[in-house]
Amino acid sequence: MVRKLLLTAVGIGFVGLWGGFASEKAPMGEKIEHPQWSYSGKTGPKYWGYLSPEYIMCAIGKNQSPIDLNEKYMVKACTRPLQINYVADAVKVLNNGHTIKVITLGKSYVVIDGRKFYLRQFHFHAPSEHTVNGEYYPFEAHFVHTDDEGNIAVIGVLFKLGKTNKELQKIWDYMPTKVGQENLLLTKVNPYLLLPKKKDYYRYNGSLTTPPCSEGVRWIIFKEPVEISAEQLNLFKEVMGFPNNRPIQPINARKILK
Ligand SMILES: [Zn+2]
Repeated sequence: MVRKLLLTAVGIGFVGLWGGFASEKAPMGEKIEHPQWSYSGKTGPKYWGYLSPEYIMCAIGKNQSPIDLNEKYMVKACTRPLQINYVADAVKVLNNGHTIKVITLGKSYVVIDGRKFYLRQFHFHAPSEHTVNGEYYPFEAHFVHTDDEGNIAVIGVLFKLGKTNKELQKIWDYMPTKVGQENLLLTKVNPYLLLPKKKDYYRYNGSLTTPPCSEGVRWIIFKEPVEISAEQLNLFKEVMGFPNNRPIQPINARKILK
């Protein structure tokens, strides 16, 4: 029973982390310093679904993320231009042991399906989680939004190697190198400047890519990649110390809109 309660507490803690509304603290007020899941070994992606009852979707879900954005599964659709209203409301950057995450004030939003989805946080993965026709990119950013009813929408941006990314550098200058550390962003960071110029996108129905792997997530991935320098990529990899991407999940009955 105690064990079950503990697992529940951890589960709720991570739901909070993901939604970005809660602080990085477990309900007992303790810092989560030893994540209960990881990207390899006995608490790695293969076992996520069995680490806690809250994580069951990681094992049994049929609409999981990430996926390979493969031409084979794409259908042409009239994907409407996204109405993106991002402002410079990023306030702090933290290292939670799984990623580097930027917390926003929730003033930025995007309109999807006629609903306003507010940007709660954005974070990074190396290599990319999504692949395009089987190819990985070196880096991917996820902009996590929720609407007033708690529905989740994530915008993914793929990065290729190239020039120094100026907006990303503003965050990198404050990157916390130790797990559990967080730094205030003492400079204006506008997440809009991390998005590609062309806003054509793929869209599909998926999940969170970390426990609890909740489904019903509206995924938007921009087709055009943006650039990151080798130096910026290496700093992220060094600080993380391991690849923080969940393996590609089966597409099952889904289609990708393009
Ligand atoms: Zn992510």
